[in-house]
Amino acid sequence: MPTKKETRPASDQEDLNPYHIADQQFQRAVAFLPDLDRGLIDFLKRPARTTIVEFPIQRDNGAIEMFVGYRVLHNYVRGPGKGGIRYHPKVDMDEVRALATWMTWKCAIIDVPFGGAKGGVACDTKVLSENERRRITRRFISELGELIGPHTDIPAPDMYTDALTMAWIYDTYAMMHPGRNNLPVVTGKPLDIGGSQGRREATARGCLYAVQRALARGAVPGLVKLDGASVVVQGYGNAGANAAALFAKAGARVIAVSDSQGGVLREEGLDLDAVNEQKANTRSVIKTPGCRTISNDELLALSCDVLIPAAMENQIHRGNAAQVKARLVAEAANGPVTPSADKILFDRNIPVLPDILANSGGVCVSYFEWVQNLENQQWDEDEVNRKLRVKMERATDAVIDKQAELNKKRRGTADLRTAALVLAIQRIAHVAMERGIWP
Ligand code: NAD
Repeated sequence: MPTKKETRPASDQEDLNPYHIADQQFQRAVAFLPDLDRGLIDFLKRPARTTIVEFPIQRDNGAIEMFVGYRVLHNYVRGPGKGGIRYHPKVDMDEVRALATWMTWKCAIIDVPFGGAKGGVACDTKVLSENERRRITRRFISELGELIGPHTDIPAPDMYTDALTMAWIYDTYAMMHPGRNNLPVVTGKPLDIGGSQGRREATARGCLYAVQRALARGAVPGLVKLDGASVVVQGYGNAGANAAALFAKAGARVIAVSDSQGGVLREEGLDLDAVNEQKANTRSVIKTPGCRTISNDELLALSCDVLIPAAMENQIHRGNAAQVKARLVAEAANGPVTPSADKILFDRNIPVLPDILANSGGVCVSYFEWVQNLENQQWDEDEVNRKLRVKMERATDAVIDKQAELNKKRRGTADLRTAALVLAIQRIAHVAMERGIWP
């Protein structure tokens, strides 16, 4: 599997740079918007602010090591920046810029009053102790200083960061800004530090609601419900493990799941308790008793009704898209399907529910958390899930309707991702012109 770092000049090879991919997707969408002002298009495309911080951390063994952190505020036309913080060795500026861009579109599609942002620190959490991760988090947040804030830019969890990381972010910011309600500076916090009920499962639950709605709307001929449908999930972290559990609870048969070490398959349906036990005991799902251990490549090529990539970017690409045998792909991860793969899947009539819709449940409940924090309220889980379902169904309808509208005009050339992007760009462009270009 090629990595995103291998940005190849050869014409037969795919450019997997995520920022180039975000740009290709954007260009495909603006082709459907010939009347949009070219300067406005340029404004919507470019990140408003990019920040790099370099800082030292003392490791537990006394050694001093330098780390590089990034924060990008892509667009704040519809509200303050919103986006997760990722800890991964391959985090770089282009990845963060791409993720921030996708956040802008996502917040517009799910219709929450935020712009797009993203951040990350290049580090390998697998070799860092909890104390080292806390020191990295505190130093990174203090280096960002006033660039984040409850009404400017609001972080959240992403790959290899979790509720505890968010607690450290809150605490660091609160130490820097004593004497006021700082809870809304970050979302995805633990429940007893202003977190929202339902936030942990929100990305996966939103994905479930979007898939259910898309099926009910006829996205996959002959498959209108999840009852008995076979589901495959790549990635077994926050998004993936919760998706497996929630899709199984909704009546689906989860036949395979995987993590970075490989996957497990059981055609009759996995015993997810056994998978969870294996993951807890060995840090991987592979070799779960009673299952066949398979590679991630094999997993992506399994015959199934719904394939949920929930790990990372560029997993379904030009080299393997022809092998995908799912009837629907739902992107719980950000950027798992490349533009070349999009085209191959579209030509093969395999719809892709795009990340900017399918995983927007996370930012939706982050918005609910932010509102609760501002009001010093705590909603119960039923209320959160009910509100989430309304938002996801409305967004899914809007994207499907937009696709129908575009294809009526252009005779069947817009996939769901392009429709979602057109919808987002139109919404943001409208607000930008309502506000007027300052000054
Ligand atoms: P996580 O760190 O909790 O889990 C990541 C999982 O992916 C782990 O199980 C890891 O082993 C697995 N993985 C990593 N590389 C892999 C590979 N090459 N093949 C198969 N599995 C691999 O992260 P997360 O928060 O669940 O995020 C996963 C994806 O979902 C990311 O793209 C993230 O941007 C996106 N996302 C997350 C949220 C959220 O609320 N957590 C919201 C929206 C989007």
